[in-house]
Amino acid sequence: MKGTKTQKTPKELKAWEKEKKLIPVMIKKYCHGKHGTRGEELCEECRALTEYALFRLEKCPFNVNKKFCSFCKIHCYKPDMRGKIKDVMKWSGPRMIFTHPVFAMGHVFQMIKYKKKLKKEEKAESDV
Ligand code: SF4
Ligand SMILES: [Zn+2]
Repeated sequence: MKGTKTQKTPKELKAWEKEKKLIPVMIKKYCHGKHGTRGEELCEECRALTEYALFRLEKCPFNVNKKFCSFCKIHCYKPDMRGKIKDVMKWSGPRMIFTHPVFAMGHVFQMIKYKKKLKKEEKAESDV
């Protein structure tokens, strides 16, 4: 039927869109585990971190075919927020295997692939 189609996310923005959904999930998991919150509740610090991370993501200049923030050359986070999000990733990342196994395995696979690609590029540069 005309006009009822939901708009599809362009392929090159899919990783970026996925991150927008997953960052709040990972922060919530962390907040529940580390700060004792429950349900949809978040502590003040984690609420601020969620807003900040989503804001940075919205402004990300590398949203097309987005790669990993941890390998980003400009890293746009303030140092304190960067430390906090690193803690969240470290804590929630391995736990995602139980609640979001497809994402978690896909993420690990993409990370390995990306690291290999970076190594290849570095080698090619040093061979010149
Ligand atoms: S760290 Fe880099 S990739 Fe991550 S949101 Fe900031 S600019 Fe984008
Ligand atoms: Zn918290």
